[in-house]
Amino acid sequence: MLAANPTVRLANWVLRAACRRKTVNLSGRRGGRRGTMGLMTVTVAVANQKGGVAKTTTVASLGTALVELGQRVLVVDLDPQASLTFSLGVDPEELDLSVREVILGEKDAGDVIVVTDEGAHLLPAAIGLAQAEEALLGRTGREHRLRKALEPVAGDYDWILLDCPPSLGILTVGALTAADQVLIPVQCETLAHRGVGQLLDTIYDVREFTNPGLQLIGVLPTSYDGRTKHARAVLAAITQAYDLDVIEPPIPKTIKFAEAPAIGRSILGTARSHRGAEAYRQVAAGLLRTTVDRAS
Ligand code: ADP
Ligand code: MG
Repeated sequence: MLAANPTVRLANWVLRAACRRKTVNLSGRRGGRRGTMGLMTVTVAVANQKGGVAKTTTVASLGTALVELGQRVLVVDLDPQASLTFSLGVDPEELDLSVREVILGEKDAGDVIVVTDEGAHLLPAAIGLAQAEEALLGRTGREHRLRKALEPVAGDYDWILLDCPPSLGILTVGALTAADQVLIPVQCETLAHRGVGQLLDTIYDVREFTNPGLQLIGVLPTSYDGRTKHARAVLAAITQAYDLDVIEPPIPKTIKFAEAPAIGRSILGTARSHRGAEAYRQVAAGLLRTTVDRAS
């Protein structure tokens, strides 16, 4: 039972409190449309140019966890490899339309979004997104195109989660420009955090040139094996090196994450009560709590 879960109970309490406090407004946010309960839509870019750090896993799992909390969620696949699309049960090869056409201004986002089995809406990727990246290079306002394209549908959602590709190219910069907040998954393994400095430089550039309001949520430690000294040392090194907030709890290392995409669901659907699923539920509840606190 959802209501028996302390995390869900806490999140529901926070939402009810926000409603009692009249319509809340996220200070410092760009103009936008309101989702459920008067909260503004929050767009989060999940970014790290390193591949395999759990960006896609985080978007799928966090998206589903927010749906469980009664939130309306859109997830956007910005990786030409279309892993998010595939892992949520949609075959990228069977799609006629994808985020590519939306970014290039050929289709409205609303015509391309599909509903996934777990309740999140998905703006899917398909083969051809890589060419879109090339096509965008010659276009005026390329960094702003994703933000503009999402504007008409933003009010239909409480959360928009952007799954960035493993590069700092135009698709990632476009995502950071469209986002209110950025979350950086970091694998708790040797050298995993090399490159975080480069990502932070990109974030600072985006703040200066295209999106002054972009906020850093912090790093989300993934594939964390708390039993090893090594994982704890990597986590401490990341925290010290960049002075970033570290989101809790760290996401545990488990094979259950690798098994979920083949079934076309997130770990919350395939291993409901596993500690990996529970960790993402807690991260989602924390995100919701912080957002409501900031708004009040
Ligand atoms: P990215 O999008 O950053 O490239 P993915 O989300 O695709 O990374 O994850 C890379 C691989 O690691 C996938 O096979 C995924 O199932 C696996 N994985 C993700 N999170 C974990 C975890 N916490 N424990 C173990 N394996 C994980
Ligand atoms: Mg990915």
